[in-house]
Amino acid sequence: MKIAVVRGDGIGKEVIPQAVRVLQHYAPDAEYFEADIGYGKWERCGVGCDDDDIESLKGADSILFGAVTTPPDPGYKSVMLRVRKDLGLYANLRPVYGEGFNIMVVRENSEGLYSGIEEIGEERSTTLRVVTKKASERIARCACGILLKDFRNGTLTIGNKANVMKSDVLFRDTCISVAQEMGVPYRTAYIDALTFDAIQNPQRYDVIVTTNLFGDILSDALGHLVGGLGMLPSANIGDRHALFEPVHGSAPDIAGKGIANPIAAVRSAGMLLEHNGIRCQEEIEEAIAAVISSGMKTRDLGGTADTVSFANALMDRLSSGG
Ligand code: ATP
Repeated sequence: MKIAVVRGDGIGKEVIPQAVRVLQHYAPDAEYFEADIGYGKWERCGVGCDDDDIESLKGADSILFGAVTTPPDPGYKSVMLRVRKDLGLYANLRPVYGEGFNIMVVRENSEGLYSGIEEIGEERSTTLRVVTKKASERIARCACGILLKDFRNGTLTIGNKANVMKSDVLFRDTCISVAQEMGVPYRTAYIDALTFDAIQNPQRYDVIVTTNLFGDILSDALGHLVGGLGMLPSANIGDRHALFEPVHGSAPDIAGKGIANPIAAVRSAGMLLEHNGIRCQEEIEEAIAAVISSGMKTRDLGGTADTVSFANALMDRLSSGG
């Protein structure tokens, strides 16, 4: 197995090395290589991610990705959008789980309001929201597949805003057709009310499929249920490539202090390993729970532990088998 590691910027540089320890614990014989991608590279070379970087990422079976800072500079092109597009990573899976709930946000990752089709002016700027039947079908199949494969026995919730935006009528109706064809129970919900209800009653939800920006906001908001962004992992999946990254960004406000919570990155490493057939998630979750209940927590969770001490305690648990 060949694994590409991208630390990226800010706290990506701090949490990813800790997540790599977990990868190496479960896959000591895998081949690891680092790719230098991100805003730091853009500052040095004028490009955040070049063609060679994309080629080397394509050579990996899976990628562990840190975080990339997106500066306000209008000339800066989003590295993550390029990587997702060039590697065909059309599905963004964002699990949020805790006591009594297990939600999987399935976010369409290739179009919607992140189409990149924009016109920027002094008086008027526009971003084109693209919804195609092909991409909606593809993401709906992925969401229904997760419901069926993981034996979740739940209902597919189709998050949309079709009452206001006509582009979401196509998204909603395409998802309904796919759910009917695949025999998956479904319901539709407006994304604003859905977000509020899912925070209040997370146990009502199972797999939620939605468009690009809505999925981004919904999953961050659900972070409230589990202690914040430092807890949320994600997978970006395509037909040929797969990239795993924490939901959080580079967190410039705490970068360099060594205090970031490494759990989201560690969980992302767990998703990468499971994707490659290595069973480990249950063990990793048990180890995380054990370290937290021993009283060791990073600051975002109300503790005082730093990134490396937390990861050391986690590795001790994993090495001793619990
Ligand atoms: P970017 O520009 O890279 O998106 P951001 O600051 O806008 O960065 P995030 O990096 O997602 O967005 O951070 C949002 C908030 O959550 C910040 O206050 C940050 O400190 C906090 N945060 C994010 N990740 C973590 C983490 N792993 N541990 C602790 N706090 C975190």
